[in-house]
Amino acid sequence: MADIQLYGASWCPDCRRAKKFLSDQRVPFDWHDIDGDPDGVALVEARNDGKRIIPTIVFSDGTHLAEPTNEELADKLGLARSAMMHVYDLVIVGGGPTGLTTSIYAARENLETLVIDSKGLGGQAGVTERLDNYPGFPEGIGGADLADRFVKQAERYGVEMLQAVSVTSITDEGHRELDVETATGDHYHARAVVIATGSSYRRTNADGEDDLIGAGVHFCATCDGPFYKGSRELMVIGGGNSGLEEGLFLTGFTDKVTVVERGNALRGSKLLQDKVLNHAKMEVLLEHGVTAFRAKDDGSGKLGTVELEDLKGGVRVERHPAGAFVFIGLDPNTAFVKDRIRLDERGFVATDPTFMTDVGGVFAAGDVRGGSTKQLASAVGEGAAVAIQIRGYLDRLDREGMN
Ligand SMILES: Cc1cc2nc3c(=O)[nH]c(=O)nc-3n(C[C@H](O)[C@H](O)[C@H](O)COP(=O)(O)OP(=O)(O)OC[C@H]3O[C@@H](n4cnc5c(N)ncnc54)[C@H](O)[C@@H]3O)c2cc1C
Repeated sequence: MADIQLYGASWCPDCRRAKKFLSDQRVPFDWHDIDGDPDGVALVEARNDGKRIIPTIVFSDGTHLAEPTNEELADKLGLARSAMMHVYDLVIVGGGPTGLTTSIYAARENLETLVIDSKGLGGQAGVTERLDNYPGFPEGIGGADLADRFVKQAERYGVEMLQAVSVTSITDEGHRELDVETATGDHYHARAVVIATGSSYRRTNADGEDDLIGAGVHFCATCDGPFYKGSRELMVIGGGNSGLEEGLFLTGFTDKVTVVERGNALRGSKLLQDKVLNHAKMEVLLEHGVTAFRAKDDGSGKLGTVELEDLKGGVRVERHPAGAFVFIGLDPNTAFVKDRIRLDERGFVATDPTFMTDVGGVFAAGDVRGGSTKQLASAVGEGAAVAIQIRGYLDRLDREGMN
């Protein structure tokens, strides 16, 4: 049993938000859907003076929070939301593999380094079930385990790290000074900033998708796949590497996984395609697109139907998987800099060969950078490379200052 018990219902948006927040922070919790669970309802009412307030979150110290905001949850979990100083040598926006690697390299060189992450440290790697192609781990390694190792190593070198804090802007203040503003209203100043904010899952934008996120429509098999243990069928939308990998992972929880792909062939690596096509539990549906996600008509608010369109004939068919997992690509997390820093045509950050953007002192690396290869090993490599470029840049500033 986890230290945190989360009582709620799948149709409740605040419950989904709280669930997502805990998952993003990689905080283990047990989820109790109180719909049709009299014991769960009784517990919630007992905790809230007879009121049925969800989410109700019970902690191991016996206390609980009813309908907490993300900020209240962060405080309860003891997450520091303001840094110790206001001026650093280097501020890194994003605490995924790229940002954490940069921080380890920079702090080893005695640069005062602050990492700020809007969710939990570890980035996408931290929420990936298993990484099999990261060098040095012949048996593979769990994503959460690897992320914990990155964080521990950064801690060992004295890197300061904030979680659940979004950076909202980076401003060139002139005089080689940069200002980093956070959603908590704090301002941090540094001579160098790294944008290492990665990318986010793309949505299908089919009807009903938004309403059913967390109630049958998901973007993270690791986070939500186990909820479907013993189910009859799950669906994966997208036949690229992520879709195929996560589809294979989901076969551990269900009798059948259907992969839906718009193109006339799967797009993942040959190795993954072979695994999927030869897997007894997997079916592939090519040249089909999702047109709607619909809730069950029993009032539960959970996914009941996925409507697909045969893109050749235009015929619509209905499938009834217990859950649908969407893996159709990534969008760079660059909205907070889009008016100040040059982006490429796909919205990724444009950099020169030294990883510098068009704003002096602002660098970008990892999945958010135009031309990056969206792999963990390359993210870590870029994280190290950008740290070395920053060292050179700061040395040049120091030399110029002396002249
Ligand atoms: C499902 C899945 C499976 C994968 N499997 C593999 C695999 O097997 N092998 C492999 O090599 N690679 C794999 N990858 C890719 C690998 O995880 C990424 O390449 C790697 O995590 C990129 O690291 P990053 O630090 O650049 O970005 P991310 O890991 O995306 O980290 C970016 C961080 O920035 C934070 N952030 C975003 N915006 C802001 C903001 N405004 N303020 C503050 N913080 C912000 C985010 O919360 C996030 O923590 C997988 C990816 C996914 C999604």
